[in-house]
Amino acid sequence: MINLKEKLSRTRRNIKHRIDELLASHKNREEILDDLMETLILADIGISTTEKIIEHLRENSRKTDSPEGIRALLQKEIVAILSQQPVEVGLEQPQSVAVFVGVNGGGKTTSLAKLARHYQSNGKQVMMVAADTFRAAAQEQLSIWGKRLNIPVIRGQYGADPASVTYDALQSFKAKQFDLLLIDTAGRIHTNANLMSELEKIQKIISREFVRAPQEVFLVLDASIGQNALIQAREFLKFSGLTGIFLSKLDGTARGGCALSIVDELRLPIKFIGIGEGDSDILPFSPVEFADALLS
Ligand code: GDP
Repeated sequence: MINLKEKLSRTRRNIKHRIDELLASHKNREEILDDLMETLILADIGISTTEKIIEHLRENSRKTDSPEGIRALLQKEIVAILSQQPVEVGLEQPQSVAVFVGVNGGGKTTSLAKLARHYQSNGKQVMMVAADTFRAAAQEQLSIWGKRLNIPVIRGQYGADPASVTYDALQSFKAKQFDLLLIDTAGRIHTNANLMSELEKIQKIISREFVRAPQEVFLVLDASIGQNALIQAREFLKFSGLTGIFLSKLDGTARGGCALSIVDELRLPIKFIGIGEGDSDILPFSPVEFADALLS
């Protein structure tokens, strides 16, 4: 069993401990709300999302002056922010396809391997594709995961057209009648325009072969860079196909508060979280459990 509180301990310390102190400080409600605003901003929750939370707390906390009442309202508010977008994952049907996008180093390949293992342990036949043909290391890394997890990996020649590698993988996936195809893509942002059109090409090829696919396109964001993850994400919003966020590296960072502004500002649900370097360090995202791990 993964202990989420422990995995999120640095973010938890950053948020919960300060709030504990604040609520124990015998300040009045207005002073508490002012200080809470600062605390939330310092915890990487972002200014606009924090303002929204405080405004709701101001409206709803009139009846309570008790610190516990304010804490309960805050926790409810965090769940509400994180649940604005539906977190359900659409990969249960046979012959589902998911694409992973994001900048290099964000945790894309590792997150893909974790998801492969997650579905494999639920009895699915999974296949992985190294469509990042521009980085030999990325292809190699996925092959190593494939060997370790005993999951087939389709890869192309170095520098091959990612769309054609995807096409070949789709044929093999179809022929073998596997359940789930996970595609790793390139993440260079210095050739941003090309990258986005490349992603669109990959997406088109997938939907030509399977009408409802890709069911998921995950943008992998690194939680340890806090608010900068939003700046990174905005580049990828130019690509219209995103269905959700895989938020990686939530362990070992105090900046996990960025999860709130990611959902609130990008208007995309977080669907999975990464909480370590191992293949089992993955959890489907639950707003209630996340808020609980931060505050209770
Ligand atoms: P990519 O370039 O986006 O494919 O990123 P990688 O998958 O190669 O990951 C970059 C680094 O982040 C590697 O050292 C991973 O082990 C590490 N990493 C990925 N996910 C997590 C996570 O959830 N927690 C921690 N602590 N490290 C992670």
